[in-house]
Amino acid sequence: MSGAITLGTATAVPGTIQYGQWGAISHPTGHDDFLPVIIAQGQRDGPCIWLTAGIHGPEHAGPSVLYRLITQELVDELRGTIVALPALSPAGLRTKSYVPYHLPKNPNRMWPDGKPAKEQDPDLDPPSAVEHAFARLFEIVRETADYMIDYHNAWIDSISFVFQDRVLYRNDGDAAASKAAAETLAVQQQEMMAAYGHTIVTEFPAKYYVKQDLHRSTTGAALLVGGIPSFTVELGTGLMPDPAIVAASAAGTRNVLRWAGMLDSPLEPINGIKVVDPGFRTRRSPAARVDEACVVLHLVQAGDMVKKGDPIAEIRDVWGRPLNGGLLRAQHDGFVIGRAHGIYFYPGDTVVALSIRDEEPVVAPYPDDYYDK
Ligand SMILES: [Zn+2]
Repeated sequence: MSGAITLGTATAVPGTIQYGQWGAISHPTGHDDFLPVIIAQGQRDGPCIWLTAGIHGPEHAGPSVLYRLITQELVDELRGTIVALPALSPAGLRTKSYVPYHLPKNPNRMWPDGKPAKEQDPDLDPPSAVEHAFARLFEIVRETADYMIDYHNAWIDSISFVFQDRVLYRNDGDAAASKAAAETLAVQQQEMMAAYGHTIVTEFPAKYYVKQDLHRSTTGAALLVGGIPSFTVELGTGLMPDPAIVAASAAGTRNVLRWAGMLDSPLEPINGIKVVDPGFRTRRSPAARVDEACVVLHLVQAGDMVKKGDPIAEIRDVWGRPLNGGLLRAQHDGFVIGRAHGIYFYPGDTVVALSIRDEEPVVAPYPDDYYDK
C-alpha cells in the first residue's frame, strides 16, 4: 500500500522524508512518551515497508541501521513508502535498559495475540500502557504495512543473523485454508530473508514459540495476526554497534527493498560479516549447556560450524584442572550463534548458543487450547 500514509504528526509527501511523533504513553508525572516517526516516500507508487527498532534499550545497532539507511538518495530511487520507527521503547533507550522502568517486562512480547477481546477478569492484571499503545499502533501496521523488519541485537560478539518466526495457523474452522495461507506467507518470508542475505536461524519449535510469547513479538504479531511477511534481525553487539554489521544490515535491507520492487538498482553483495549457510535449516537452541559448576575455555567462535561430537569447550575447575574428561562436546550438528559471556558457569547454564539442525516444520498449527485461554 502506498499513497496517503499518516502516523501521528507525520504524513507522507512523495519524494521526501517526513519526521513526526506518534503519541504512545502518558506518564503519571504529566510527561508523555512519543515514538519518533520517519516516513520516506518515493515519487513512484509501490509497497509500504515498516522498519522498527529500539524496543530493547541496550540494542543500538538497529536504530543505527535506520539512521544510515534513510537518505534523500534512497528516496530519490524509491518506489513506495518506508515507515521507520527507530525508538519503540523510549524509556528503555534512555536508561539503556532491556525493559522499561515503568513496566519491568519484555516489551517485545506485548503486541496483540489475535485472540478475541474478552471481559477483563478483575483478579488478573489488565493490559499495560505499553500493550494499549502497541494495540493502537498495530491497527495502523495492519492498515498500511506490506512488509516489516524489526531490528535487534542478540549479545556481545554474536553473529549477525535473522530470526525466522514459525508461521502458525488455526486448526479449527477451515484448517486447510488457514494452512494454505500460512504456507504462502512462509514462502514470502523465506524469499524476503534470502534477499536480506544474512545467516538465518529459525525460532523455537511451535509449542515453545507460543509458550515464550514469541507470537507476541513485533514480527510474530505482524506475521501471525497481520499476515504480513516479516522477520527479526539480530545485529551482534548492542551497546557498541559493529560498523561492519550496521553497513551489512543496511545493504541487506536495501536488497529486501529490491526484492519487494521498491528499488531498481541491482542487488548488493553482503560483505564484511560472517554469513553461515550450513546447507540445512537450523533453529535456535539453548544448547550447549554444562552440567556442573565449572570454568569454561571456549574452543569455538561465533559463526563456526560444529558437528555432533566435536569438542566445543574445555571444562576446568577454578584452579584450571580438567573436570570430567575436560571437554564439552556438541550434541547436534549446526553452527555457533555466539559464546555465552564470561568463563564461570553454574550447572545448566548455556555456554555456547547454537543453531542446530531443525526437524520441526516452519508452518505448524497453534496449540489446541490456544484460543480457549
Ligand atoms: Zn532485542
